Formats: sequence, C-alpha cells, structure tokens
Amino acid sequence: MLRLTTQRQVILEELSKVTSHPTANELYDLVRKRLPRIGLGTVYRNLELMADNGMILKIEVGGTQKRFDATTENHYHIRCAECGKVDDLDIPVLNNLVAQAAATTSYQIIGHHVEFTGTCPACQQRLAREQAAQ
Ligand SMILES: [Zn+2]
Ligand SMILES: [Zn+2]
Repeated sequence: MLRLTTQRQVILEELSKVTSHPTANELYDLVRKRLPRIGLGTVYRNLELMADNGMILKIEVGGTQKRFDATTENHYHIRCAECGKVDDLDIPVLNNLVAQAAATTSYQIIGHHVEFTGTCPACQQRLAREQAAQ
C-alpha cells in the first residue's frame, strides 16, 4: 500500500471534490491553491503512482489526455467528441459481459472498461449556434 503523504492526501481530497475527471494539469491548479510549492511533475508522478496502486482511476483513451477519477469501483464513462469532457454514466456494470468474454477466451479476465462517445449539452448548443449563424 502506498504511503499517504500530505501531497497525496491533498491530491486525493481535491480529486474527490470534483466529478469532472480532471487532467493532471487541471488537478495541479486545484492542488496548488493548497500546496503553493508543489510542482506539476510531482502532481503527475503522484497521480501515476496512486493509479498504479488502485487508489484512484486513470482514464486513458488513445490519443487523448489522461484523466483521473477518485471513484475506483468500475463504472462507465461518456466522453464528448467535441471538447473531451468526461462524465460518469449512471448505468449498472454489465457483469454478464465479463461472463460472455470469459466463455470465448482463454484469458483470465481481470476487468473491462466501457466508454461511450457523444456530444455534451454545451457543445450541442454551441454547434446549434454555429449552424444558425452560417
Ligand atoms: Zn463538449
Ligand atoms: Zn468516473
């Protein structure tokens, strides 16, 4: 188990306060308000360590910035294809998906990730305005 230093505790507290799945940079801005001397590299390293130890969740999808989540139990995400915003999706985890996968592979399944892609309400409005202006 990773030792909970003051820095890690502050990072965890700030991450727990938001539901926006912040990037390392966004978290750095929050953490810096409480620990003015902390560096971006330190925040980054601690986030990676905490994710490796299962204290937080790292959300990584090809080509996009890593985002972090204080909710570690499996849950599903929806990402805006326009602005990259990530929200939680409040639907039950599909455990029968794991059973189906397990039945068709000799892999030992340890988990699964589901991410939906969409256009967030703010981007829908922006796109509608842009279209109306044309
Ligand atoms: Zn958006
Ligand atoms: Zn989440």
